[in-house]
Amino acid sequence: MNYETIIGLEVHAQLLTKSKMFCRCSADYANAPPNTHVCPVCLGMPGVLPVINRQAVEYTIMTALALNCTIAEYTRFDRKNYPYPDLMKGYQISQYNLPFGLGGSLTIEVDGQKKQAGITRVHLEEDVAKLVHYDSPDGKSYSLVDVNRSGVPLMEIVGEPDLRSPEEARQYLIKLRSILQYLGVSTGNMEEGSFRCDANISIRPEGSDKLLAKVEVKNMNSFKAVYLALEYEAERQRKAAAEGKRLVQETRGWLDEKGKTVSQRSKEYAHDYRYFPEPDLPPLVITREWVEEIVAKLPELPEARRDRFVSQYGLPLYDANLLTGLRAVADYFEDCLKTDAFKQLPADKGAKEVANWLLGEASRIMNDNNIDIVAFSKRVSPEQLGELLVLNSQDVVNTATAKYVFGEVFKTGKNPAEIIDDKRLSQISDTRALDEEIGKVLAANPQPVADYKRGKTQSLTFLVGQVMRATRGRANPKLVTEQLKKKLEEG
Ligand code: ZN
Ligand code: MN
Repeated sequence: MNYETIIGLEVHAQLLTKSKMFCRCSADYANAPPNTHVCPVCLGMPGVLPVINRQAVEYTIMTALALNCTIAEYTRFDRKNYPYPDLMKGYQISQYNLPFGLGGSLTIEVDGQKKQAGITRVHLEEDVAKLVHYDSPDGKSYSLVDVNRSGVPLMEIVGEPDLRSPEEARQYLIKLRSILQYLGVSTGNMEEGSFRCDANISIRPEGSDKLLAKVEVKNMNSFKAVYLALEYEAERQRKAAAEGKRLVQETRGWLDEKGKTVSQRSKEYAHDYRYFPEPDLPPLVITREWVEEIVAKLPELPEARRDRFVSQYGLPLYDANLLTGLRAVADYFEDCLKTDAFKQLPADKGAKEVANWLLGEASRIMNDNNIDIVAFSKRVSPEQLGELLVLNSQDVVNTATAKYVFGEVFKTGKNPAEIIDDKRLSQISDTRALDEEIGKVLAANPQPVADYKRGKTQSLTFLVGQVMRATRGRANPKLVTEQLKKKLEEG
């Protein structure tokens, strides 16, 4: 029997607000000493009153709009009750049946095919504290609570079970993260836990609409982990079905080192959260005027920017796609185009040239050094890249040398012209200096010279190579070819 895979994702994203969701503590806790960003509200003391963070509400509405959701006119917060050591109040303030956004969509692309994945809802809640586990040398392990994270605004984005493969799930996450980064509402950093994903995955016989058993997978800390966990799970469920085993509805955890999922709890232990309206917070009426104000603040989103890169700069769609995936890369690209140096490049080729260098050499350097575009831009400024491209286009250095200079700019922070000067890297473009090298090469290679004279034109390529080698790549190849031809025809 053939089965198809059904996947739906739930994403939690921390919002980039200055303060927490319901108190004035700083939400920027990541590098703070444990339990320093706390107050009676986020510690969950009795008798305190929460106050709604307006910025967090705006960010959530922004996201819901960018995901084509309908924005609720009337919404409210609810208490989600469950006991856990990292949940300070014994309940989480969340939203139950009246979320901010409902019924949206996200367009993904897999193998050149566009697909719309449904968005069920976008709601707002608060993050919990963090348990830090320690193993002590006497074999006894223990856990400490860091409350800094408690109360950080957390946006939950629930997707419809519209995804049919682990690759579609990965593309969905990449696209969603890109939108959050463009909006500036979240860092989207999965490794740091500010962007977390739980996945519901099940299989069903092709053509049937009956799922075998819904399995929720947790503990995935990277896009790669999500992909691998879903691959593993789809395979495990198919194998169990083929062997006639009964699949159970359960929650499973992904073990990264072992590359497999293990059962954490089955349906019998499913939580009953006893949701009820949060009595300490007023319901929110979201006026259409407010929504219009937020719409006006929406920045250009990845797809629109990609299409603009194609129409405005004449870039191939492929390049435009790569450049606009991350907002910071697209920003760097456009910063390069704003430099004075850029204006000296040929008008029809300049943008493509910048794109080639960013997607080629710059990407290679970022990979080799394991850094992102933000760190890269602190080492190589758009002005420096522009200057290098101008020197290359004016034949001061050939492309091979320019790549070397690019690496040196990254290493030393010096400007390209300075490096070229210091290391005497400029191309040999004066014919007298070249003629000397050419003379030596001709004298040292009588056979190829004779071959060329008998009509074997490939010999010329060999001789050009020899001159380039003798000048350690500094000669202008066009000039070398011209001069060589002249010499060979003379003598
Ligand atoms: Zn607080
Ligand atoms: Mn949640």
